Amino acid sequence: MTAELYYSLNRFLKEHFGERVQKVPLDAGFTCPNRDGTKGRGGCLYCNAYGSGTGAFRKGLSIREQMLRGMAHMARRYGARKFLAYFQAFSNTYGPPDLLRRRYQEALVDERVVGLCIGTRPDCVDETVAEVLAEFQAKGLMVWVELGLQSVHNETLVRINRGHTFEDFVRALEILKVRGLLVCVHIIFGLPGEGHLEMLETVRTLARLPIDGIKFHELYVVKGSGMEKLYREGQYLPLTQGEYADLVAEAIAHLPPQVVIQRLTGDPRPEELVAPDWARDKSGTRRLIEETLRNRGLYQGKYLE
Ligand code: SF4
Repeated sequence: MTAELYYSLNRFLKEHFGERVQKVPLDAGFTCPNRDGTKGRGGCLYCNAYGSGTGAFRKGLSIREQMLRGMAHMARRYGARKFLAYFQAFSNTYGPPDLLRRRYQEALVDERVVGLCIGTRPDCVDETVAEVLAEFQAKGLMVWVELGLQSVHNETLVRINRGHTFEDFVRALEILKVRGLLVCVHIIFGLPGEGHLEMLETVRTLARLPIDGIKFHELYVVKGSGMEKLYREGQYLPLTQGEYADLVAEAIAHLPPQVVIQRLTGDPRPEELVAPDWARDKSGTRRLIEETLRNRGLYQGKYLE
C-alpha cells in the first residue's frame, strides 16, 4: 500500500538488487568544518557534539568491525544478505583524498557490501571528492551522497549557523551529478523562523533540481545544542506531530515520482531528546503521514500532474 503512495528506499533497493538491502550506519572518525573552527565552532544550532554519530571510532571500534557487527545484527533482524555502508556521523568527505579512499575501502568487508552512502555537507564536496567517489562507483558499487541542506532559504541557513549557502548546495549537486553519482538531500521541517510556506518552498525548489533522493526530518531539540537554549527560554515552539505529518504529506505530493524517499522522520537518541516528545514515536509519525496521504488523496507527484 505504502509503496503506491511514495517511492520508498526499500522499494528502490529491491528493484535494483532484487532483494532486501540494509544500510549499516558507521562512525568513521571524521569531524566537521562547522565544529573544528574552519567554518565555525558551535556547529549548527540543532546539533550537539555527537554530530549524529555514536563515537564508535574514537572508542576504538574500526570501520571494518562496525560494519561486520552491523551486518550480523541486520542479517539476524531482517534476514538481509546485502548491505550499504552508511558513513553517517559528521562530514564524511572532509579529509584528504587518500584518507577518504582508505576509510571507504575499509567498509567493503566482503561482496555482501554492494554500495556506499556518504553523509556530508555541500561545502565539503569538490571535484577531488567527486573523483574519489566515482572510483568506487566504477567498481560497480552503488554510491549515494547524502547532502545536508535543511532549507533552500539562505536567511534560515544563517539563522541556524549552517555555514554554507543554498548556492553551495547547487554547486555540489552539479559536481556530483556530472559523474552520475546518486544524491539524496536532507531537509528539516520546523526550523526557527520558517512557516509552512518557506518549508514547502524548499521542497518545490528541490523538485526542480536533479536530485535522486530526499530525507525528511522534524526539528527536534537535543541536549547541549543551541536550540536547547532557545527552547528553554521559550523562544522556540516545535511543530506538533499532526503539523509535521501534514507537511510531509504535502511535500511528497510535490516531488517527482522517481525521487526516492529515504526517510520520513528524524531519529533522536532517547537520552538526548529535550522536545518534542512525539519525536520518540517514529512508527506513530510514519503511520500518521501515511494516513494523511490516504485521507487527503495525496501521493508522490500528484501536484506535478
Ligand atoms: S554540519 Fe552536521 S555535524 Fe556539522 S555542525 Fe552541522 S549538523 Fe553538526
